[in-house]
Amino acid sequence: ANNRLSYEAQTMMSKRHMERAKQVMPGGMTANIKHFEPYPIAIKRAHGSRLFDVDGHEYIDYLMGYGALMLGHGHEEVKSAIQQQIEQDGTWLFGTPHEKEAAFAERLLRYFPSMESVRYTNSGTEANLLALRLAMAHTGKYKIAKFEGHYHGAIDSLLISVSPNEQDAGTAHEPNRVADSYGMDELAMQNTFVLPFNQYEHCEKILTEHAAEIGALIVEPLEAGIIAPTNDFLQKLHTLTKKLNIVLIFDEVKTGFRTGMGGVQNLYNVEPDLTTMGKVVGGGFPFGVVGGKQEIMGRTSPLAGFDFFADQDQTDRKQLALFHSGTYNGHPLVLAAGLATLDVLEEEMSDLLIRTEQFKSELEAVFKKHSLPMKAVGIGSLFSVLFTNKESLSNYRCFEHVDKKLRTEMDRALFQEGIYVKPGNRYSMSVAHDDEAIEKTIMAYEKVVPTLFP
Ligand code: PLP
Repeated sequence: ANNRLSYEAQTMMSKRHMERAKQVMPGGMTANIKHFEPYPIAIKRAHGSRLFDVDGHEYIDYLMGYGALMLGHGHEEVKSAIQQQIEQDGTWLFGTPHEKEAAFAERLLRYFPSMESVRYTNSGTEANLLALRLAMAHTGKYKIAKFEGHYHGAIDSLLISVSPNEQDAGTAHEPNRVADSYGMDELAMQNTFVLPFNQYEHCEKILTEHAAEIGALIVEPLEAGIIAPTNDFLQKLHTLTKKLNIVLIFDEVKTGFRTGMGGVQNLYNVEPDLTTMGKVVGGGFPFGVVGGKQEIMGRTSPLAGFDFFADQDQTDRKQLALFHSGTYNGHPLVLAAGLATLDVLEEEMSDLLIRTEQFKSELEAVFKKHSLPMKAVGIGSLFSVLFTNKESLSNYRCFEHVDKKLRTEMDRALFQEGIYVKPGNRYSMSVAHDDEAIEKTIMAYEKVVPTLFP
């Protein structure tokens, strides 16, 4: 028993908001992921590590815009970079080349040795679309391999086996191809092979068997942003894809700048052919990046036939240039926010990584004290709290042993103590999560855990 308010009593105005929103938007949502039962809270304003909802409550925010806000809410340096862009340059969109585009690319090349050239998009999803097209153009092969449990955006050929249920999922070694949405292009689906993460021999078998058709292998180098590759898994994929002429794409949309100034690729010392990014690099604005080897990236150049492919017959130019465009690509406000974000991260990265490790070990101490089968799982400034007895988690199938119901129950109770994570979601740390925020969170855990597990 406890004297907490019920969820409904605590969120009356949110409930009213959602009822209004449902009249004009399906489910009252602009994105399915925003939903949770019985209804999500609506937020009015935010500052630093805190969210303030329409009912006037304050929460420590660990969702942080699905990991995009690595500086927390309303960081002063991002604010002033945006203001400066508007005031000095007089507008927020040129539709022409401008200095920040190259300046930002130079910074990315410095952090990511695998990148020789970059293109910008407006989301992580769009970045993956471009990466796939580049891989297909480069190899002349039009099928794709992806991993079970890995999310790359709502793309027909990739929104497959992201969260299949046990009955449909097939064997652990050769997972079935399961659509995650209605309405997807059947043909696109059939062109995708699904692989098991951290099971190199099985990946090798599937990729080798279909090497004549597969042009791209895309992977979240930390599965779901938190599960580490075992042994030399990523290196071995790198060697194999090179041998089979398959373009290796690291989707670092979630992981970019989460494990240090660079990606997971730096941590494991593997250079993918292409990398896609989003979230953190856009400083909380809509953004995506594709970066990689010049020999592949160069295919998007409108000069393709003239400079990069200078040795080719000029009549090939139309065939060789790959179309990539977008009204908002390289948006000045987004790049201003992104550059300011990278400046702050250079200063704050090591402190944040240390603080996250401390936070995780304090959480684990609470779990241990109460003999709970719970762990804080992740590398760098992203982690999740999982209820499981399993010693090591190697891929999607291991999550079958994780108790999601208990986690949701705990999130509900923590929410009532002023801690906000969307139920079941990751903890995305930011530089705004200072010692005070972390201490408050640990205290909330200390309070909640004995009531859930007396
Ligand atoms: N790739 C990964 C690994 C992601 O986590 C996400 C978003 O959560 C995406 C791609 C899609 O990015 P966006 O939501 O910006 O389209």
